[in-house]
Amino acid sequence: MQDFDSRKPLLLLATKNKPAIDISWFEQMKKRVFSFQKYMSLCALGVFILLAACNKIGEKRKRAEGEPLRVLCTTSIAADLAGNIAGGRAQVAGLMGAGTDPHLYKASEGDVIRMAQADIIFYNGLHLEGRMTDIFEKMSARGIPAVALSGGVPKERLLALEGARGVPDPHIWFDVSLWMLAAQTVRDALVEHDPPNALFYRENADKYLKELEALHTYIKTEAEKIPAERRALITAHDAFGYFGRAYGFEVMGLQGISTSAEVGARDVRNLAALIVRRRIPAVFVETSVPPRNIEALQAAVRARGFQVKIGAHLYSDALGLPNTPQGSYIGMARHNIDSIVKAFLDE
Ligand SMILES: [Zn+2]
Repeated sequence: MQDFDSRKPLLLLATKNKPAIDISWFEQMKKRVFSFQKYMSLCALGVFILLAACNKIGEKRKRAEGEPLRVLCTTSIAADLAGNIAGGRAQVAGLMGAGTDPHLYKASEGDVIRMAQADIIFYNGLHLEGRMTDIFEKMSARGIPAVALSGGVPKERLLALEGARGVPDPHIWFDVSLWMLAAQTVRDALVEHDPPNALFYRENADKYLKELEALHTYIKTEAEKIPAERRALITAHDAFGYFGRAYGFEVMGLQGISTSAEVGARDVRNLAALIVRRRIPAVFVETSVPPRNIEALQAAVRARGFQVKIGAHLYSDALGLPNTPQGSYIGMARHNIDSIVKAFLDE
C-alpha cells in the first residue's frame, strides 16, 4: 500500500449501486491478469458482430433541409453537455442511461443502428467507452463525424492511469476546467456541422461556460472549507484523480486492497489501522465494491475502538436519474462536493 502523509486524515470512498464490471476492469488493469493490448483485442472481438451490422446498414442518412441535427452521445454526462449547448435546436440523445457504466458498455445492434442514423456522435474518448472504439472508427469512415470530447484537452493536462501503460485517465469531467474544454469541442462541432444555428450554439455555449466557471469556483470554495492538510480521498474506483488534482485532495484508489481475497484481507486490516491512526471520519460509497468489503473494513475499524461512517454515495461515471438534482452534470458535481464537505465537517 502506498505510504500516506500521516498528518492527513483521509476520507474513504467505497462503491455501491454500480455494476461490478467497472471495478473488474480496473482490477484487470492493475493486476495485469491480461494486458491492455489483450483487453483491446477482446473488445475488438466483442464488436465484430456489430461491425458486421454496420455493413448491413447501407448508405449514410441524408439530412433534409431544415431538419434538426441528430446528435447522439454515449454517456449521460456527454448528453447533458451536448443538450446544454444545442439548446433544443438539435435533437440530442444518449445511449447510456443513469447508472450505466461506460467502461465495458457493449453497444447493441440497435445502438449501432442509432449511431448510423445520427448526424454527429459525441463520445468521451481516452478509452472510456473501451468496447466501442471500433464502432466510432467505422462511423467516421461512413462519413458520420464521431467527436471525442477529450480531444480538446492538451496532453499535458491528462493524468496517466496507473497500471495501464501510459493510457490516460478518461475521467476528465471531474475537473470542471477540463470539462469546459469539452464544452468548447461540442460548440465547435455543432457550429461546423449545423452552420445555420452557429450563432445560437455560440451564445448557448457562452452561457453554459459561465455556469461551468461558477461551478469550478464553487467546488474550490467548498473544498477550502476543509483545511488543505486534511483534504484527502481514497476511492474504490479510480475516477477521482482529476478531482483530486483540481481541488487539492490527496486521492488514492481503494482498488488495490481487493485484488485477491488473501491480499484483500490483509489490506483491509492495514487500511483499518490507517483509518484509526489518522482518525479518518468517513468511508464514502461510490458505486459497487461489494458491501461485505466495506462492512469488513468498518468491523476492522470498530475492533480497533474507532468508528468510521459511510457517507452519501458519490456519482462518478453516470448522472443520477433524470429530473433529480443529480440528473445533470452541474447537479451531480455539486452533490459530490457537498457530500464530501459534509462528511468532513460533521465528524
Ligand atoms: Zn470510471
